[in-house]
Amino acid sequence: MVTKPFNSFEMAQAQFDRVAGILDLDQPTRDLLRFPLREYHFTIPIRMDDGTARVFRGFRVQHNDARGPCKGGVRFHPQETADTVRALAMWMTWKCAVVDIPLGGGKGGVVCDPHNLSLREQEQICRGWVRQIAQDVGPMRDIPAPDIMTSGQHMVWMLDEFETIRGGRYPGFITGKPVTLGGSLGRAEATGFGVVITVREALKELGLRAADTTASVQGFGNVAQNAVKLYQQIGGTVVCVSCWDQADQTSYAFRKKDGVNLGALLGITDRFGGIDIQKARDLGYEVLPGEAWLEQEVDILMPNAIEHQITADNVGKISPRVRLIAEGANGPTTPEADAAIRERGVFLIPDFLANAGGVTCSYFEQVQSNANYYWEKDEVLGKLDLKMTSAYIAVSELARKRKLLMRDAAYVIGVSRVAQACRDRRWV
Ligand code: NAD
Repeated sequence: MVTKPFNSFEMAQAQFDRVAGILDLDQPTRDLLRFPLREYHFTIPIRMDDGTARVFRGFRVQHNDARGPCKGGVRFHPQETADTVRALAMWMTWKCAVVDIPLGGGKGGVVCDPHNLSLREQEQICRGWVRQIAQDVGPMRDIPAPDIMTSGQHMVWMLDEFETIRGGRYPGFITGKPVTLGGSLGRAEATGFGVVITVREALKELGLRAADTTASVQGFGNVAQNAVKLYQQIGGTVVCVSCWDQADQTSYAFRKKDGVNLGALLGITDRFGGIDIQKARDLGYEVLPGEAWLEQEVDILMPNAIEHQITADNVGKISPRVRLIAEGANGPTTPEADAAIRERGVFLIPDFLANAGGVTCSYFEQVQSNANYYWEKDEVLGKLDLKMTSAYIAVSELARKRKLLMRDAAYVIGVSRVAQACRDRRWV
């Protein structure tokens, strides 16, 4: 049997169609929101270090900007496709709307593998990407950011090229910049903290005290580390974290039943979120196969690593004790596993609400950059808490009122806000 390759854009459209049905959207609004408003496909010719010429394919998709300029990362990935970028741009539209920030959804990409490119070659790709799109992006139109395999350094090259072309200084053109060049304090913590702010609110709803709960976390990168930090600060106990081991090409879980020590674990973790196995054993951790993170007898699971981790095959291994799942990663639960979780009555905070702290803080960075006035870290984190808490409350109130799942309620809020903005503009 020939199986059709997984297509993210078809999945994003199917999710949209479902919500359009719940909202009973009219046909013109559906026709408008099922597709990107605009997309750009271009080639980026580069002179490689050895003097040869190579041409890379680049994309920028602007899904919808009715609520404000488009916002979304630029990925470098060898398997990048126009459809993946379209789907991610659409998801950005709903994510910005659900946390009620005045931005639309966009996404960009270049088909390339930075592992096989020198820094000079990567810089040329960043500058070439901006040269092809400079007239159609900008602080008031479309604001890029880092994503898979792009970093603050790539953002600085893109910013420098944009400012050279446009003439002047436009720090609000791009986010994810180093703090020394207009990045925001608190950005590093924002996504993981945002996940735990939603967990804190959900625990109140479930009638649980954070201090009486335990959690198991998949991943130990940026999102997971900061989620562990805030969850421990509010009194919770993390009994297990996990990571991908590059050398063994497999994942491992690290368990300490009386609670992991974040500082000690950070001391034996590399910059990719990989934990040193031997040193973990020396510190008294049980090192288990990667999937063990899911099987722990805990109250809360936080899949904070990568997509498609809770599947039809392993969902049955989740302990009956688990009351709450907070999706820090994008798309960690497959639709089949989602259905099983729903059936078991486990409360789930969907990804584009749980991990929206990242884009919320990117918005704060853009506001600070445009004003050229920078806030203290406490101010950034205080505003993040306010935004995430209000978004959570809006979704959970709607879920209760209309007897919807949290995922559907989040979609309903995101899509209806965007549809309303399109109607207000008399686009439909
Ligand atoms: P990261 O690269 O810093 O960390 C990823 C972690 O996951 C690492 O510890 C890695 O070892 C681990 N990992 C990878 N594959 C694994 C596997 N099969 N089993 C167990 N662990 C595995 O990435 P991050 O920035 O923490 O992002 C994590 C997730 O959160 C991604 O889905 C990302 O799209 C999403 N996200 C991140 C942000 C952000 O601001 N960083 C914002 C929104 C969403």
